[in-house]
Amino acid sequence: MKKDQFFSENLISWYKKNKRNLPWRKNVNDENYPYKVMVSEFMLQQTGVSTVIPYFENFINRWPTIVSLACAREEDILLAWQGLGYYRRARNLLKSAKQICNQYDSKVPTSLEELQSLPGIGVYASGAIRSIAFDKKAVAVDGNVKRVLARYYGFSGRLDQNEKLINEQASKCCPDKSNRQYTQAVMEHGALVCTPKVTKCGVCVLSSKCYSYKNKIVDQIPEPKLKTKKQKLNCISFLSLKGDREVLLKKRPKNAILGNQWELPSTNWSKTKHKFDKNLCPIPSKHWNKLDINFTHKFSHIDLSCSVYFSDADSSKKLSSNDEYKWINLKDISNYPVTTMSLKTLNELNLIQI
Ligand code: SF4
Repeated sequence: MKKDQFFSENLISWYKKNKRNLPWRKNVNDENYPYKVMVSEFMLQQTGVSTVIPYFENFINRWPTIVSLACAREEDILLAWQGLGYYRRARNLLKSAKQICNQYDSKVPTSLEELQSLPGIGVYASGAIRSIAFDKKAVAVDGNVKRVLARYYGFSGRLDQNEKLINEQASKCCPDKSNRQYTQAVMEHGALVCTPKVTKCGVCVLSSKCYSYKNKIVDQIPEPKLKTKKQKLNCISFLSLKGDREVLLKKRPKNAILGNQWELPSTNWSKTKHKFDKNLCPIPSKHWNKLDINFTHKFSHIDLSCSVYFSDADSSKKLSSNDEYKWINLKDISNYPVTTMSLKTLNELNLIQI
């Protein structure tokens, strides 16, 4: 049997016996399956399966159909996404649901062009949805798939250096039948057997034809990613309390990082440290005191150092009429999508418990 065919057929057989009982594979029918696959693919981008499971279950319980999701408020979606990170995915999922309801009769479309016209769905996700949801012949190459292919075929170097080679090989391996099972099989194999660190070659159904295994170079493929230098930024956050019960929060701009989430009003994020200046403060107060806490919040590409100033609010001053600022009762804070860094600050000061 040819090496490519050996790859796909053995992985499909292995998958049939070993697939995990993941929630997006349970209680599915022709009606709900494409929607469940779409939600899971949005959640699984940049995030591991075990983290996603409780979020997915909660999300599907709350919005069981694409129509229910399309009618949801963005604030509720962000709240349900809280802790999963990469919030742009949540906003794009909501926009995609609305577009599907408006343009595609509330049915997840099947063509590559239609899928890729949806916000947040690119080459990978469109391939995954076409293949997994609709059993079409389509290629979906995620990090797991890249690693399995690179090891099996012996592509030395980093995965990003072999992008073209891996994509070409992925197309050659893609079978004409059982594409739904095949796509999930390669991903599952990368997650359970051909894992980044503890590779289980001893039980692998590909080992007899695997280049890396036969040449004892499994630990050398792929070479590690180049470390990208993170940007180091700074900001000041302002904690204003009214009567010990209400905290002043501000909605972040829609298109900024963490867009539309609520936070302690803060300066912009800059390379240089901000000097405290009353003009930066969100509301007038006689005294702003620097608190003895500093946080560094780690994002994928930014380390943000944040210092915090505190003031009791002058309750006689009214907030501006726009709705970007809001006094929120601390006991109601879990009803709002608040940034993790602001939650951590409030928690550190024993104002809430997270
Ligand atoms: S033999 Fe090892 S390196 Fe090769 S595909 Fe299987 S698990 Fe991966």
